Amino acid sequence: MKTALYFAAEKGDRVKCGLCRHGCAIPDGKVGICRVRRNLGGVLDATTYGHASSIAPDPIEKKPLFHFMPGTHSLSLGSVGCNLNCGFCQNWEISQEWGARSTRKLSPEAVPMMARDNQCQSVSWTYNEPTMWYEFTLDASRLLRKAGFPTVYVTNGYIAEEPLRELSKCLDAMNIDVKAFTEGFYSDLVKGKLSGVLETCELAHELGIHIELTYLVIPTKNDKEEELKGFSKWAAQSLSPDVPVHFSRFHPDYRLLDVPSTPNSTLALAKTAALAEGLKYVYIGNIGHTDDENTHCPKCRALLVERWGFRVIKNRLKGGGCPDCGEKISVVEKPGWIV
Ligand code: SF4
Repeated sequence: MKTALYFAAEKGDRVKCGLCRHGCAIPDGKVGICRVRRNLGGVLDATTYGHASSIAPDPIEKKPLFHFMPGTHSLSLGSVGCNLNCGFCQNWEISQEWGARSTRKLSPEAVPMMARDNQCQSVSWTYNEPTMWYEFTLDASRLLRKAGFPTVYVTNGYIAEEPLRELSKCLDAMNIDVKAFTEGFYSDLVKGKLSGVLETCELAHELGIHIELTYLVIPTKNDKEEELKGFSKWAAQSLSPDVPVHFSRFHPDYRLLDVPSTPNSTLALAKTAALAEGLKYVYIGNIGHTDDENTHCPKCRALLVERWGFRVIKNRLKGGGCPDCGEKISVVEKPGWIV
């Protein structure tokens, strides 16, 4: 058993979990909504501690992070479970239906060694929702910071405030899914609250974590022009025009099989709306090789970083700026704490 962080005794035999914004009150012997945290006699057990379902060195662009250490590799690790329940999940075998999935047991100390052995420059907690093994990611991230490896969370943004504040001491970047911009979508299709996700984005930005946002555009569900504009306006005004946004193409998966793939025209509309709201770096993903996956200077429009899929094939950035007009570009080439 691994005693979880962030829980407190409640009335009767319940404990209240404070790791994510659900705040489950869990009776003895039962699990929370995520099914990976169990009340064992008044103590919350973090059942997935050290249980890795997937490990691979990936280009950092695959997270996707386009403005964080571009062109480098990130050792990517996932466990099982999720605290949301998206019918369109593309990793549902490990996030929702993982009962028979075998995992490999790891120690936190093994992770920096694996990053080094795989010639990776960072470590990403990804594939499933990383808060599902929060305690392990925290322990390993503290060691990774000491060993010189930046860390990344690829997340649904449903983590509660205090755990994020603690994690931010050893977390460098996040890609946060904003799955829609209406509470109706979140309550019907995801089983969560949009407001909590937006608060996480704002807090992460305030804490100085590099953030990029992903918005999966699903036909008829979250693709109205007004909604896309509202999302972009919030990102530009409540975060920053410099925050990179990735609009991603939906394809039918898991339980959402009766909705067609996103038309390119809708993705183009999303990009136009986002640029009109003032966002400087807007990308379209999951559509094959197009100019929409390249980085351009927001001032003179020069091509700065050219990508092919998840590979950087040309990087013209000079000292974090445009080599043609000198415009400062929002990119972390290396976190400041690395000497
Ligand atoms: S992590 Fe979230 S979903 Fe899981 S038990 Fe805690 S509050 Fe509930």
